[in-house]
Amino acid sequence: MLDKKIFSNTKRAFILKSDEDLKRSIFIFKLISIPSLVPPGIFFTKLALKLRLPIEWLIKKTIFKQFCGGTSLNDCLTGIKNMYSKHVYSVLDYSVEGKVSEEEFDKATDTKINIIKFAAQQKEIPFAVAKPTGLGRFEIWHKVSENKTLTPTEEKEWQHIKDRIKRICKAASEHNVKVMFDAEESWMQDAADQLIENMMKIYNKDRIIVFNTMQCYRWDRLEYVKQSHLKSKEGGYKLGFKIVRGAYMEKENKRAEKLSYATPICKNKAATDNTFNQVMYYCLNHLDDINLFIGTHNEESTYGAITFLEEKQIDFNDERVWFGQLYGMSENLTFNLGIENFNAVKLVPFGPVRDVIPYLFRRAQENTSVQGQTSRELNLLLEESQRRKKESV
Ligand SMILES: Cc1cc2nc3c(=O)[nH]c(=O)nc-3n(C[C@H](O)[C@H](O)[C@H](O)COP(=O)(O)OP(=O)(O)OC[C@H]3O[C@@H](n4cnc5c(N)ncnc54)[C@H](O)[C@@H]3O)c2cc1C
Repeated sequence: MLDKKIFSNTKRAFILKSDEDLKRSIFIFKLISIPSLVPPGIFFTKLALKLRLPIEWLIKKTIFKQFCGGTSLNDCLTGIKNMYSKHVYSVLDYSVEGKVSEEEFDKATDTKINIIKFAAQQKEIPFAVAKPTGLGRFEIWHKVSENKTLTPTEEKEWQHIKDRIKRICKAASEHNVKVMFDAEESWMQDAADQLIENMMKIYNKDRIIVFNTMQCYRWDRLEYVKQSHLKSKEGGYKLGFKIVRGAYMEKENKRAEKLSYATPICKNKAATDNTFNQVMYYCLNHLDDINLFIGTHNEESTYGAITFLEEKQIDFNDERVWFGQLYGMSENLTFNLGIENFNAVKLVPFGPVRDVIPYLFRRAQENTSVQGQTSRELNLLLEESQRRKKESV
């Protein structure tokens, strides 16, 4: 039986990091672990960018290098190949956010399709990803989710959104690249869930191409998964699920309180962990009908999944089960999983430095708010640094 200690093996975790890379990562995690530093840091970076001060090179050498794979597809390739040499796959995420016009959404769709075509040529890239609100205005998703009447212009926008999602799924199917759709705020998610389910009906018949995301901080997701399973069996198609805990908890709780409705979020962290694990084991117990991508930095859940595979004598690299972490985080999970021959994946954000800055700010903010995880990252980096020092004497 694999020991949980495999995730403490820092030599394997940081195998691709030079001593200089390691020092840079330690510096960055030390900085973002100080909560009082992050908001002023973000404020001054925004100001410097507005004043057109030449700070892009500094961002590129520090936080960008930690959390992004490169500025373009080709720029990411060396990193992707290096990770694959340790059995770690990549998923490329063009992380340019905040676009709102129809032209920009069309352009984003074309970019997704280009990434699918690019992925089809690289054995190292098994998935593509897309975010619903990157393909159409949030307000349209929201109104459709709440069954509100759309104006004629909004009707057209909704039709365009459906066309864009269909184009992406069709391209993914034609090029045999799996596509995962992110989950976002609960008040726009129903429309996304419905549309993605429709895509599964078309494209998940003989193999699984389309994946939706289940945010397990939502207490209704276990039931949703079970109901989807029943429907898929009746409808003769299969399901692809990426499971995560969920990234919008504070926003969700605040909105629920402000508008006086019951929050869709579990009552505490233990309840979220419980839902996550229940959804995970439900999917693992139905792998003939459901493919699973476990998107987490949580060691307990990850260990639970690998133990399940071992106990049920399912091949570690069975193509129905995948594990994913974000680039620059939880290398101890990704690389130890990869080296043990599990299907380990890094989600690799990329894009021009200026355009990915909102993503980088989020990484800094989230790492500050998830204190436990940040100190775990920092401790592992420091341990590895110590280990290398000892090794060299
Ligand atoms: C590959 C990948 C893809 C992702 N895709 C998405 C996506 O499409 N949509 C999305 O929303 N997120 C996505 N995320 C982010 C994810 O939802 C989590 O925010 C993040 O991974 C932290 O959760 P964890 O399981 O890694 O770790 P943990 O540190 O174990 O869990 C932290 C999470 O627990 C939950 N939590 C914390 N405190 C409480 C509380 N008091 N009550 C209830 N719940 C609580 C929150 O969800 C919090 O993010 C993705 C993450 C990864 C690694």
